[in-house]
Amino acid sequence: MKKLSVLKDYFGFTSFRVGQEELVDNILSGRDTLGIMPTGAGKSLCFQLPALMFDGITLVVSPLISLMKDQVGSLTQAGISAAYINSSLNHSQYIKALQNAKDDKYKIIYVAPERLTTEEFVDFAQNAKISLVTIDEAHCVSQWGQDFRPSYLIIPQFIDRLADRPVLAAFTATATPQVREDIIDKLNLKEPYVLTTGFDRENLFFSVQKPKNKFVALKEYIERNKIKSGIVYCSTRKTVDEVCRNLIKSGFAAVPYHAGLSEKDRRENQDSFIYDKSNIMVATNAFGMGIDKSNISYIIHYNMPKNIESYYQEAGRAGRDGSPAECLLFYGGQDVVINQLLIDNSNGNEDLDKETIEAIKEKDRELLKIMTFYCHTNDCLREYILNYFGEEASNYCGNCSNCNTNFEEEDVTIEAQKIMSC
Ligand code: ADP
Ligand code: MG
Repeated sequence: MKKLSVLKDYFGFTSFRVGQEELVDNILSGRDTLGIMPTGAGKSLCFQLPALMFDGITLVVSPLISLMKDQVGSLTQAGISAAYINSSLNHSQYIKALQNAKDDKYKIIYVAPERLTTEEFVDFAQNAKISLVTIDEAHCVSQWGQDFRPSYLIIPQFIDRLADRPVLAAFTATATPQVREDIIDKLNLKEPYVLTTGFDRENLFFSVQKPKNKFVALKEYIERNKIKSGIVYCSTRKTVDEVCRNLIKSGFAAVPYHAGLSEKDRRENQDSFIYDKSNIMVATNAFGMGIDKSNISYIIHYNMPKNIESYYQEAGRAGRDGSPAECLLFYGGQDVVINQLLIDNSNGNEDLDKETIEAIKEKDRELLKIMTFYCHTNDCLREYILNYFGEEASNYCGNCSNCNTNFEEEDVTIEAQKIMSC
């Protein structure tokens, strides 16, 4: 089958988006690949399509259970045989899934990195024909990334144990050169084809605001955007609960999401937001990785996030359908203090030695400074972000609070009216 027919028949798309075809072609040609594309660009397709065209099985290493469930759900719906293997399965389900995998019932298997070391899984993998191993959210392998998972480091050992080396394809939305290098290095990608698409999201309006009373500002904003869907990100669980409670009291349909809630509550709240029963999600950064909701019109950061990477990834969840969307950051001096505390008190990972933990903290402090400066700069916010990711940009975007053309036009009109009325 030709790739365009697969694209149409299985995924329902008539054309590739920017970067997708190059990535698909390179993977199909058997070359290791690293795809760096912003959130919402369509990375999944870049490995799911080749997966259908390869003879053997594709394994997808993914960091989150919810992400695996969502993706396997959509694949199954599209008539593609897929499954996931992670800690949400009990032992008998696990053994059954593995048996199905051995019987060649799945074309795509999502797997948590921890599973790659279990005896049963290795046994299956060594006897199967595995054509492609995809590492989704590949920045998790780098301690310079924002979601470091030590379990990602075992991926190369797993690959080494396979009879034939499969093609490796890694994907991430994190573009900093340091993380990029680290991914290639830690995953042992062999002379990879690396593709980075532009990071600019033209339809997003960026704004930094310093409201005297954040909640009042939030309420006013949401009041003006009542029928729209949006996420309010807060830095702590306590703030999430407070803000969410107050929004509900004010008559808005808000749901909370953070790691302190039970898995069932999180799932319910997430579904309620995704399926438009509640139009406001109030959450910590625990919410959103891999979430595919196209009609999010605004992302409000009630607190300043800890670095530009997190900010851009979270803000980037707005406007995935391409229509205009707003990314507002409510900045207050307290935000810096809270973030500093969060860095100081993070114990890192138990698997890491003291020195590494200290080095990570030092790096986090540096990134926090760059984030704080974003909130203080008078220059174009979009330029600031893009430069951070190593991209050239004009110093005037006309679509951020520091170079807002509408604002200037309004001023001019008022001035003009004054002149006309004298
Ligand atoms: P990412 O992993 O890069 O954040 P996803 O793979 O979740 O993004 O894709 C985001 C959305 O884009 C999905 O809804 C997907 O169906 C859609 N999409 C992907 N490729 C195409 C395409 N070629 N044409 C139209 N829509 C696409
Ligand atoms: Mg993705």
